Amino acid sequence: MSNVRKTIRDLAGYVPGEQPQQGKLIKLNTNENPYPASETVVSAIETAVRNLVRYPDPVATGFRLTAAPILGVDPDWILCGNGSDDILTILTRTFVDAGNTIRLPYPSYTLYRTLAAIQGATAEEVAFNDDWTLPTAFRTGDGQLRLVLLPNPNSPTGTVVSREEILEIADSLPCPLIVDEAYADFADFNCIDLVQENEKIIVTRTLSKSYGLAGLRFGFAVAQPQVITQLLKVKDSYNCDSLSLAAATAAIRDTTWLAENVAKIRVTRSRLQEQLAQLGYDVIPSHANFVWCTHPEQPAEEIYEYLKANGILVRYMKYPKWQDGLRISVGSDEQMDACLSLLEKR
Ligand SMILES: *Cc1c(COP(=O)(O)O)cnc(C)c1O
Repeated sequence: MSNVRKTIRDLAGYVPGEQPQQGKLIKLNTNENPYPASETVVSAIETAVRNLVRYPDPVATGFRLTAAPILGVDPDWILCGNGSDDILTILTRTFVDAGNTIRLPYPSYTLYRTLAAIQGATAEEVAFNDDWTLPTAFRTGDGQLRLVLLPNPNSPTGTVVSREEILEIADSLPCPLIVDEAYADFADFNCIDLVQENEKIIVTRTLSKSYGLAGLRFGFAVAQPQVITQLLKVKDSYNCDSLSLAAATAAIRDTTWLAENVAKIRVTRSRLQEQLAQLGYDVIPSHANFVWCTHPEQPAEEIYEYLKANGILVRYMKYPKWQDGLRISVGSDEQMDACLSLLEKR
């Protein structure tokens, strides 16, 4: 349709991982948690469902009051969103004009490219060094550079950039640095407290992975209050509904559930990595709830097709300037056994 903005007509659109709604596939392709969420989340939704007549709290006061002491910040340092993808949209709309540039590492989360394109901005990809640190080119830039996005741990590699390096990058950049911590609960450290050191550091989080609530759609940003004030102007008034607010508040409060869940997944992750290596795969040690692997002889796409034909869905990803490979989510031990025994038979 010719009335559509040229930027949008020219856009291919982001393609998320397959989400089959039927069938009995073992789903290891979009890094969902294999375990059900805390029971307290279910009860919170059951209570909230009886009270849907009124609009939800537009600024998520209950969630922010509960989350603040757990995260170690004040409530006015938190902004809530309909998944962290909503938070990322708010951030690009706040900071990026048409013609500007956003920067992301390579290989990384490809949604960022789509967000840049919707704004009519250019996405500049800077390749990681061989040791998964970032080159100097990642931390310099002119007035056109408006946002730098860094998933930490990164997807699809599962690698991390150190806190020291993140502070240094933020100090030398002319624009905000978004540290996308979708997977930080599975890592040994996070960067939430660094937000206090530099107003350019903005951390984003999601309940989709470590809290087992991908279907709920809830994420949040942590930033200095003068930044949050600006972001609040851009978000939809009621971007989080009453059910997700009630559920997210219960989820973040249940720190025991989170610790147990993360511990289980980290044990399974080690085992998956070891066994893939034993089967001859090249594996990058992961700090997230997925593992990136390639096989020196077998093409990744064929392994993906073979697993799918046998009822297991993993993510086949192609990075033209790097390599193609498989990103396998860490599932339950039974799911990993099923996957590994198929790979062994190949
Ligand atoms: C999964 C993921 C998100 C999106 O999380 P939602 O809250 O489900 O929108 C954001 N960033 C990265 C790097 C992810 O892998």
